[in-house]
Amino acid sequence: MKRRPRPTGEQTKCELRGTRRSPRGIGHRKRPACPLLPGKVYSRGCPALLHQQFGAESMEAPAAGKFVVVGGGIAGVTCAEQLAIHFPSEEILLVTASPVIKAVTNFKQVSKVLEEFDVEEQPSTMLENRFPNIKVIECGVKQLKSEEHCVLTEDGIQLVYKKLCLCAGAKPKLIYEGNPYVLGIRDTDSAQEFQKQLTKAKRIMIIGNGGIALELAYEIEGCEVIWAIKDKAIGNTFFDAGAAEFLTSKLIAEKPETKIAHKRTRYTTEGKKKEAGTKVNAGNIGSALGPDWHEGLNLKGTKEFSHKVHIETMCEVKNVYLQQEFRLSKKKSLTFPRDYHNQPVTTDEELWPVYVELTNEKIYGCDFIVSATGVTPNIEPFLCGNNFEVGEDGGLKVDDHMHTSLPDIYAAGDICTASWQPSPLWQQMRLWTQARQMGWYAAKCMAAATLGDSVDMDFSFELFAHVTKFFNYKVVLLGKYNAQNLGSDHELMLRCTKGQEYIKVVMQDGRMMGAVLIGETNLEETFENLILNQMNLSSYGEDLLDPNIDIEDYFD
Ligand SMILES: Cc1cc2nc3c(=O)[nH]c(=O)nc-3n(C[C@H](O)[C@H](O)[C@H](O)COP(=O)(O)OP(=O)(O)OC[C@H]3O[C@@H](n4cnc5c(N)ncnc54)[C@H](O)[C@@H]3O)c2cc1C
Repeated sequence: MKRRPRPTGEQTKCELRGTRRSPRGIGHRKRPACPLLPGKVYSRGCPALLHQQFGAESMEAPAAGKFVVVGGGIAGVTCAEQLAIHFPSEEILLVTASPVIKAVTNFKQVSKVLEEFDVEEQPSTMLENRFPNIKVIECGVKQLKSEEHCVLTEDGIQLVYKKLCLCAGAKPKLIYEGNPYVLGIRDTDSAQEFQKQLTKAKRIMIIGNGGIALELAYEIEGCEVIWAIKDKAIGNTFFDAGAAEFLTSKLIAEKPETKIAHKRTRYTTEGKKKEAGTKVNAGNIGSALGPDWHEGLNLKGTKEFSHKVHIETMCEVKNVYLQQEFRLSKKKSLTFPRDYHNQPVTTDEELWPVYVELTNEKIYGCDFIVSATGVTPNIEPFLCGNNFEVGEDGGLKVDDHMHTSLPDIYAAGDICTASWQPSPLWQQMRLWTQARQMGWYAAKCMAAATLGDSVDMDFSFELFAHVTKFFNYKVVLLGKYNAQNLGSDHELMLRCTKGQEYIKVVMQDGRMMGAVLIGETNLEETFENLILNQMNLSSYGEDLLDPNIDIEDYFD
């Protein structure tokens, strides 16, 4: 192995933890009047006419219906695009509740499994222009009649399908529904509402420990943040306690002037949305935001400082009180803890619009609460009268062909629960990349089923791979990066250079099963290969993470 100079910074030695070993199991169109809603103007054709044109004849013979995709997020758009490519002479209907669609641009396959792409919100006309055989219907689906092979839109239109793919995403779980001081962040509208509220805020509370909470805690400036998590350490969805500790120091430190380059372009929805018009009803949801969602937003409160974050660990929300209720309760709230160097911005006598009582009995007042406690698959509009098999996480169960339990109905993205026997190195996570991969693969399966072809599971489901950015660090997660489902029968190897990089490798029976790479490690491709080929690495021992050994060169 080639030696290379030791990187600067405080270097900890390679370390082995957990050592018990045991054998491993492993254009130009006429705009006709709408017969159902005479006053209605449809920019891209009346759905009722579309139904007459594309679906009515198939009421008796469902197989003659169209390919219909529900949802204009990444999963739905990718699925519709692929169907349009597979069946260039067929009309593909994309029905979506949101006024804009999500498009993947600048797709780059970084390595075998790792991928990067930009995400753009676009008016649906752009999709129709790119794929003339896709017709977008901007309207929510309110019912699915699976036996009749049709979906019913909120405008009262029935669309008959021969194959349907449901890609309606997920909704944020709110700790309290209907409380005006509890915000969930999901789409552009909710993100902008959050930003508006933040400009007037002196203190907010973040509840939750996933990706959104992590990004918010780091990005918010000029506002006290009380962050309540139910785990011992931050970022439990993505990291172990070691990585959390590595990142926590960043929360206390001042933010750096320069940020690392963005992986993806920012959202440019304002103008496009106006152009597209707003047709989302209160009950409908827009597409989920994704990577770099906060980059277009000014996440600044009322004060001039960067971080002021206090973390309350191992607790959940017990109660939420409005100001008047809190006064009557005679309970006492806490001031912002003074354990950091700066003086608190808020005074002890402050009156807050809302108070949160945690299960550790602590009470904090704040301007508003961000509920970032995960998502629930958006399956409700499709349930009535349809006997779907639903997963424990509330998603529509899909098999290894993205097929739900009902005939001719597929599902992809956040709405579904992967219910096949997964590869030992893959797990479902409701992420941007998986939404794209599932949408793509669902279209392939729909096409194969239509043509009577067979189809193999897509390679992207072999290995879990995700690249993102937290606290201004590049973060790559591979395989069983948190030793998911490996039991105690695994080893962890760590290398940490404070403020620079954190590398964790999960080993089982001499094989690499997963990795967390934080910082510019340049190890992602090498580790991806080592995980995929399951080479026995026992003989390398600690050399595997020795900073003086050029491992990527060696395994090239
Ligand atoms: C704030 C935030 C930050 C995130 N950050 C990241 C990140 O950094 N990295 C990452 O990988 N992932 C991230 N995610 C997750 C990622 O955005 C989702 O996993 C992904 O967008 C899911 O895509 P989808 O197509 O399944 O669903 P969505 O994008 O939610 O699209 C669902 C579509 O269905 C439509 N729809 C809903 N109901 C109906 C109906 N009844 N009829 C018709 N249409 C309907 C909606 O209007 C929408 O167009 C984030 C999510 C959020 C909310």
